[in-house]
Amino acid sequence: MHKQDAFLPYGRQSIDEEDIRAVVDVLRSDWLTTGPAVDRFEADVCAYVGAAHGVAMSSGTAALHAAMFALGIGKGDEVIVTPMTFAASANCILYQGGMPVFADVEADTLLLDPAAVEVAVTPHTRAIIAVDYAGQPCDWDALRAIADKHHLALVADSCHALGASYKGRKAGTLADISVFSFHPVKHITTGEGGMAVTQDAALAQRMRAFRGHGITTTASQREKSGAWFYEMTDLGYNYRITDFQCALGSSQIKKLDGWIDKRNRLAHAYDAALAGQDAIRPLTRREEVRHAYHLYVARTPDRDALFQRLRANGIGVNVHYVPVHLHPFYQGLGYKKGLCPVAEAAYGQILTLPLWPGMEKNDVERVITVLQAEERGKE
Ligand SMILES: *Cc1c(COP(=O)(O)O)cnc(C)c1O
Repeated sequence: MHKQDAFLPYGRQSIDEEDIRAVVDVLRSDWLTTGPAVDRFEADVCAYVGAAHGVAMSSGTAALHAAMFALGIGKGDEVIVTPMTFAASANCILYQGGMPVFADVEADTLLLDPAAVEVAVTPHTRAIIAVDYAGQPCDWDALRAIADKHHLALVADSCHALGASYKGRKAGTLADISVFSFHPVKHITTGEGGMAVTQDAALAQRMRAFRGHGITTTASQREKSGAWFYEMTDLGYNYRITDFQCALGSSQIKKLDGWIDKRNRLAHAYDAALAGQDAIRPLTRREEVRHAYHLYVARTPDRDALFQRLRANGIGVNVHYVPVHLHPFYQGLGYKKGLCPVAEAAYGQILTLPLWPGMEKNDVERVITVLQAEERGKE
């Protein structure tokens, strides 16, 4: 098949020979899991974002669950969360028996609206989970002010935002706990994987124990100290990640800045091509951020027609997201349509265009050509 005709996915991983060698080296070593490559990857991510502690886990979802556990979220606790996200951002609250309270987003960025958060606070509110949607950091200063005023914990679901920054501060340092995902469509991958980072040693300690059944030491620590004794102090899970996954992560993170730059260049090419078109517009990018562009999201009243047209031309467009409270499971819990009208209206119009570092300018041009053919077809 000619490259021009190949299916263009909305996102995909970039793996090179150096990555493959890093994984194979670990496969030949003594430790396949909970060994030195895990510690190294945690240190690498912490050094990159400027966080004090990192706890690598089997997924971003596991890391969100660990964050809810570490913050002591339980029955009767309310946690305010955005609906414009992957379900895991809210599911983690339910895992701990807490109640998700959906607050609406801003129409131009689809980021959690601080004004809506303020209105949603009740005497039962314990925390806020905000998502750096598409890779653009939220208004963290405004969210911090609300959290401080009401004594709430602030959690960043930064699964879209590794490498992003807000007023010169990196994603990973903007909340009490920040969570990243290393799924293949995210900025760097470990196959499956995630990490929670924090400045707080006590929170890190609780998440580290939670990752391994709530047991206070790991097998490698016990081997080093020669002691057999261990205690399970909390009900934890097996949320461990392997050393060969972490070796891949450490190899990938070396390339992260180049990839973010590439994502920004491709996003700017889309911006330029869409400029002056009324029928389809990019979301607003704020001045004070370095956008990590996990997703390039545009808004159009002709979403369904454009979606079909692009897919028919081998272009892997997508919709991020069905607002969480509209999923059948959440509807079954009693959440009603109309709860977050801004997110719900956006849901009918958003379209995610392909964006990943292995794409080239001509791939962007191919997407734009198909988009504009549709425009002309309507005249
Ligand atoms: C990817 C993602 C997650 C979950 O990450 P996994 O590693 O797939 O478990 C959570 N929140 C958001 C916003 C995500 O995009």
